[in-house]
Amino acid sequence: MKILVVEDEIKLAEAIKRALELHKYVVDVVYDGEKGLDLVIGEKYDLIILDSMLPKMDGIEICKEIRKAGIGTPLLMLTARGQIDDKVNGLDAGADDYMVKPFSFEELFARIRALVRRPEKTNDTLLKIKDLSLDPISFQVKRSDKTIYLSTREFSLLEYLMKNKNKILSKEQIVNNVWSYDADILFSTVEVHIKHLRDKIEAPFPDKDPVIKTVHGFGYTIEEN
Ligand code: CA
Repeated sequence: MKILVVEDEIKLAEAIKRALELHKYVVDVVYDGEKGLDLVIGEKYDLIILDSMLPKMDGIEICKEIRKAGIGTPLLMLTARGQIDDKVNGLDAGADDYMVKPFSFEELFARIRALVRRPEKTNDTLLKIKDLSLDPISFQVKRSDKTIYLSTREFSLLEYLMKNKNKILSKEQIVNNVWSYDADILFSTVEVHIKHLRDKIEAPFPDKDPVIKTVHGFGYTIEEN
């Protein structure tokens, strides 16, 4: 799951990023509204966390632009205490939920879980392919009822492959969806992470079929059948 945080209070933005990364989310952070809108249009996110007061372009305006562009990504607006108008305007502009600063991270995660579990967003509940399952909410990965421990990146990589089962994903698509927009990632890095993933989800199960299929010179896929 990839989340964009648009917040000009750098300390708060960094704290949110660290907390989200501990929960195995891939996080992009930007500090002004224009850059935020650019990323929403150019990248693909599962959730946007957007401050209402931002330099260059405020959160309400960004929210309207996003919805006008037909982008339905769940959006959580952050507002400063006392700015009641911001809440109302934010929801009117197409935000799905809002939170008043300061907030606890428990509250933040509760809201994120509620937003990404919403029924119109499919595939956000348990992902299952044959005997392999991945729960994006509890971060549990199991194969044949055996729990598998993955690093944050391995988890994101497997989640992306499972969400897009039966599709052949290029290494470029994988980089764009599993790493931050500003990370300088070589395709060989993707190969290394795929290998680590295979060491954990395939190697311990020698009697079972491999899970990840390599499409030579292009990318990878997980096939359901
Ligand atoms: Ca602000």
